[in-house]
Amino acid sequence: MNKIIIEARVNELAGREENPNVPFTPEEIIRDSKECYDAGASVFHFHGRTPTGEPEHDPAFYLETIAGIREQSPILINPTLGYVAHGGDAKERFEAVEQMMQNPATEPHFAPMDVGSVNVDWWDPENNTYTSTDLVYENSTETLLYFADRTKHHGLKQYLVSWNISFTRQIEAFMKMGVITEPAIVLLCMTDGTSLSGHPGTPEGLDAHTTFIPKDRNLLWTAMNYKGNLLLLTEKVIKEGGHISIGLGDYPYLELGGTPRNADVIAKVVEQARSLGRDVATVEETREILGMKAA
Ligand code: ZN
Repeated sequence: MNKIIIEARVNELAGREENPNVPFTPEEIIRDSKECYDAGASVFHFHGRTPTGEPEHDPAFYLETIAGIREQSPILINPTLGYVAHGGDAKERFEAVEQMMQNPATEPHFAPMDVGSVNVDWWDPENNTYTSTDLVYENSTETLLYFADRTKHHGLKQYLVSWNISFTRQIEAFMKMGVITEPAIVLLCMTDGTSLSGHPGTPEGLDAHTTFIPKDRNLLWTAMNYKGNLLLLTEKVIKEGGHISIGLGDYPYLELGGTPRNADVIAKVVEQARSLGRDVATVEETREILGMKAA
């Protein structure tokens, strides 16, 4: 079977109430990148955070963190652009990437493209109410075409994200237009708990996503569950030839015992993939699978 690409999603906007091992500072994120690489992850996704866990949008944070990650291992770097909090026009939103690309030591390998728009308010399932009512993750077609153009210009791999089937349809349209480079990879977003923005993190939620992956296109998929336990679905993903994006940014994974680190979650997926007959892709193999330049 095809080798599996494992991506570590180490912090997102997660707090430390349930698991104190969520990394915030550049030092903590850099340490996690090495541990996750050693455990078998070939892609690393992180968000800038302040020492108290607030979102950190200063490009300097990203430059320092990426340079540190690159010194520790060859893991492929997939930073966020902090879209929701930024707002602003396309050029402003892509500015951090433009800065990263000015120095080989701070270059990421991927730039994200969430190919559509969605309400991302927080749901309180205990009290059946929203705790926010005005959060829209807005990505106009014009903005996305700008991102596609700039990622191509820089030779970055486009990291596509689909929150629901309408996103996947726009990805297919972009493929027909030639603005997305194949082979492409799409992160199929499932959400549970306090987020209702993606498909449910159930077999049916995943099936609804994968059913609409265009079969005549070279589009690989990886699965995540924001605010839900992806380990309930990883066996299905592994058996269906998908890839896995997982970490403490999405869910504390206390089911693994104690308070696991990101690398413990990665190790669990590696063990499961191997036990089901799928080898884990190294960084070089991941580059090859995704049609990226060799290091
Ligand atoms: Zn993220």
